[in-house]
Amino acid sequence: MDTKIDRLDDAHWNDLKNIVVFGYGRYGSRIVPYLRKSFHIVAIIDNDEDKKDKVIDDIKIMGVKDAENILHNYRIIVTTQAFFYAQISNQLQEMGLVEYADFTIWNQFFAEWYYKYRGMVCVEKADIPITSYCSLNCESCSAFIPYIKEKCHETLEQIERSVSLFFDNVDRVQDMNLYGGEPFLHPQLCEIIEILGKYREKIGYFGIITNGTIIPDMKVIELLKKYDIGISISDYSNSVDYKEKLDRLCKLFEEHQINIVRTVNMVWFDLGFPRKKIQYDTISAQKHMICCSTACHDLIDGKIYYCVADRAAQLGNLIPHSEKSYIDLARINKNDLKSRKAILELCAGNIEGGSLDFCKICGGFGCDNLDEIPAAKQIKIVDNENRRYG
Ligand code: SF4
Ligand code: SF4
Repeated sequence: MDTKIDRLDDAHWNDLKNIVVFGYGRYGSRIVPYLRKSFHIVAIIDNDEDKKDKVIDDIKIMGVKDAENILHNYRIIVTTQAFFYAQISNQLQEMGLVEYADFTIWNQFFAEWYYKYRGMVCVEKADIPITSYCSLNCESCSAFIPYIKEKCHETLEQIERSVSLFFDNVDRVQDMNLYGGEPFLHPQLCEIIEILGKYREKIGYFGIITNGTIIPDMKVIELLKKYDIGISISDYSNSVDYKEKLDRLCKLFEEHQINIVRTVNMVWFDLGFPRKKIQYDTISAQKHMICCSTACHDLIDGKIYYCVADRAAQLGNLIPHSEKSYIDLARINKNDLKSRKAILELCAGNIEGGSLDFCKICGGFGCDNLDEIPAAKQIKIVDNENRRYG
């Protein structure tokens, strides 16, 4: 298989000291402190006029028009999701700049630059699903929770093994979240946090993703503080009646100076599966997967799965098992950088045959999915028969 970790033009990126960061949203603000450890950031650029002229650690945010000269003189790292990168890439190309010579998306840079020039294996994002139990039943859940018959909490032994194998082979992960289902339902959440805490210096942003329906106890709160864990709250109070409880939860986190991001009015694009019939043929599934370019990889059962939705459907026994969906970390030689590179290839979407089997029947997270739906529409639990699809 061809490599996806050899796109940056050596002549432009090899001896890199000064960079420009394009994008200062949720990802950009997490990435900039790490980049500053290795590079001089000449400027931060953002298309959002409201951010213009804000100063981030002595660096002023500039609009594109004010930064034309700078953009032509330094390598640019675009710190947005793939969905927005396509627009920014066009914008930069219209200015005569060339992808992989003058600019690249952060995920590619993080994987490739640190591998080639620092001999490191750096993964942008790997999340750990710790339970398939949830307090809600969202019809279009991307982890297919309402459709999973045999729900379970991951055991401490399973999680410890996965995490240990992961950090044997990965030097740094920039973004790592515990999630579910609803992670605050896991009865051993404290022990899980302590397992991850041992590797805290290898994790950039460490977070928990919650729907905000469960108020954690003080033991959990203390550990959130101890390990500087952020909370991403998906606020579904437009669909589910729990706003008062959610406000109380946010207040509790704020009182304890825990970093929270509460996302309201979320827009969902329906993956379709298992309710709607979607069918891509082999060639269109390859394009569909590239368009999706999911950055959300899962660590579970000693394996890294490329795609969250594919993993959830397989482990929920809703679709057949597919070996090309994951890397089994136990098979990697931790003493051999080339062997460890397989992790980077998987996370870059280097999948045998050009797409996952599941891409053929999944709506995806890319711009070719136009099926916008209200977030978190609730359904009653479906019957337990005939749950296998595909
Ligand atoms: S809150 Fe909804 S979307 Fe989130 S895991 Fe539970 S069922 Fe899925
Ligand atoms: S289109 Fe493919 S990669 Fe994207 S969410 Fe669906 S299965 Fe995953």
